[in-house]
Amino acid sequence: MFKLNIGIVFAATSAIIVGAFVYLVILTEKQKKARGNLQRSLDKLKKAYDELDEQAKIIVKKDLELNKTQEELDKKINSLYTLHKLSKAISSTFDAEKLFSQIDKTFISELGFDKGLIVLASKDTKELSLPVAVGYPPEKQEKIKKFLSEKNILNTIRQPLLADKSLLLDAAKKELLQIFDLSSLCLVPIISQEARLGLIMIGTDLPYARVTEGDLEILSILSGQIAGGVENAKLYEELWQSHQYLEQRVAQRTKELASANEKLKKIDKLKSEFVSAVSHELRTPLTSIKGYAAILMAGKLGVVPAPVKERLEKINKHSDSLTKLVNDLLDISRIESGKVGMKLEKLNLKDVVNEVVDITAPQIKEKKIQLAVDIPGKAPACLADKVQLGRVLTNLLGNAIKFTPEKGKISIKAREVEGLLQIDVRDSGIGIGEEELAKIFDEFYREDNAINQKIKGAGLGLSLVKHIVEAHKGKVWVSSKLGCGATFCFTLPKA
Ligand code: ADP
Repeated sequence: MFKLNIGIVFAATSAIIVGAFVYLVILTEKQKKARGNLQRSLDKLKKAYDELDEQAKIIVKKDLELNKTQEELDKKINSLYTLHKLSKAISSTFDAEKLFSQIDKTFISELGFDKGLIVLASKDTKELSLPVAVGYPPEKQEKIKKFLSEKNILNTIRQPLLADKSLLLDAAKKELLQIFDLSSLCLVPIISQEARLGLIMIGTDLPYARVTEGDLEILSILSGQIAGGVENAKLYEELWQSHQYLEQRVAQRTKELASANEKLKKIDKLKSEFVSAVSHELRTPLTSIKGYAAILMAGKLGVVPAPVKERLEKINKHSDSLTKLVNDLLDISRIESGKVGMKLEKLNLKDVVNEVVDITAPQIKEKKIQLAVDIPGKAPACLADKVQLGRVLTNLLGNAIKFTPEKGKISIKAREVEGLLQIDVRDSGIGIGEEELAKIFDEFYREDNAINQKIKGAGLGLSLVKHIVEAHKGKVWVSSKLGCGATFCFTLPKA
């Protein structure tokens, strides 16, 4: 029984074990399958993960690149803005010193750098100066100047130049970085239309900062602006210098002219005094000559034979014209020196004109001249010296008669013009040549023409007219053409 039970147990156990084994075999098969599936999924996942990783890397790389570009763009915008500010400042000044004072530490740092230098060479001596030296103490500046002169850098560097420690550099660039104490720099020559003026350099010695091609572009623009500014300042300086020179010359000439004028005034005064004295001295003997001639002609000293009388009449006539000349000269010099004051009074112009016309009537009649006087009854009275106004009209009308041929025409017209009385004496005579017009009011001026050769005169009449009219604060002028008559006009104040 016990054996049977054991057998049953054994059989059952074996069956269970077999069953379990079978089960295990079946299970392992399933697991294997599942694991295969799992592995495949894992592989797929890994692949997807790798792809994602790859893409993430690309995105990060792109992002970095974008950031860098953005940074560069920001820097460029900043630099351009800074340049714009500077160009505004440059265009508003002609002062080179003021221009360079704008390129200071702030300006250089706004461009993104900590050191900057502008080197200029003087036009004549070629001596170097550093109008801008940001980040360099004076003793270093001297060293830099010495180096640049010795190496003749201004003439050697003809193109924009970039040097950075991280790049493969030639010895010259390395030397530049060294002398300027920089790890990265760019340098651009400053060239105007005419010449090379100098150079501009910016750079940094900070380990993380670098100068880029973009900076070189900005510096090239800046260099152009500085060249323009320096050139403008130079032109302005030259203009200012020549202006100063001209002003000095004008002041000097004015002084010379003033002193010459003073001398002339003195000479003129002496001349007037001389003429006045001589005329005075001449008048007395002339009066005697005329007086004695008159006595002789009147036969008070005995009968005068006809030929003698004829000569005496000539003496009388010539004495008259000499007296007129002397009187005119005396009057001109007196009016000039202000010794003769005008006795101004309210005058009816028509009356004065008529008196003069009456005196000249015989000559007018003799030459059969047609005279027209046009002075409206309503014409305002004038304020003038009656005697002097009479002399003005006598001279003008006398000349008109003298230079107008027989049967010619003369007119005297008066009217109000711009608050003054204007009197025109017009004739249809021989007229005056264009070149003579400017001279005929000068003392002793007479045109060389047939009438003047025939009828003697001193050439003082018109000068006297001018002096008298101007003493009345009026003006006198003439318009004429050779062969077309002449019109003499003068103005007088209204009463
Ligand atoms: P004069 O009559 O003694 O020569 P004036 O001073 O009166 O001196 O005139 C100067 C000159 O101006 C005259 O000699 C003449 O050549 C010119 N002149 C003056 N009036 C006239 C005129 N109405 N027509 C042409 N020429 C004139």
